[in-house]
Amino acid sequence: MCIFCKIINHEIPSSVVYEDDDVLAILDISQVTRGHTLVMPKKHFANIIEADEETVQKCVSVAKKLAEQIVRNTGASGVNVLTNCGESAGQSVDHLHFHIIPRYDENDAIVIKFRESEQQDLGEVLKTVKG
Ligand code: 5GP
Ligand code: ZN
Repeated sequence: MCIFCKIINHEIPSSVVYEDDDVLAILDISQVTRGHTLVMPKKHFANIIEADEETVQKCVSVAKKLAEQIVRNTGASGVNVLTNCGESAGQSVDHLHFHIIPRYDENDAIVIKFRESEQQDLGEVLKTVKG
């Protein structure tokens, strides 16, 4: 059983921010910024691609409400809501989860930056993306 399934089953303690029949939200143990929260479905799916649409919708709906609540209550000035999918994308726990990361200023502990990259032929990229 994965670590988040153990948390959902109360085999491992966690700080519960929100819970309903399908979704659990807990404080991330790492607290990259103050209030860092994880929203996850109670049913195990490895990631956003593996999960069914209804499950993703339920999680996103909770994430939206909690993002509002957390920004309001922490006094954050912004928030990142994100999910990592796959090792190359930084996923370390293979149970779908959305990070809610309140942002305080540009010097807080998270950097999300698009580095300059090679120019792409958008027509060719579009063909690839659309398949
Ligand atoms: P990922 O890297 O997969 O996107 O995010 C996994 C997150 O889970 C990390 O931010 C990490 O701190 C958090 N995490 C890992 N183990 C535990 C745990 O046992 N309890 C809690 N609350 N968070 C955890
Ligand atoms: Zn799991």
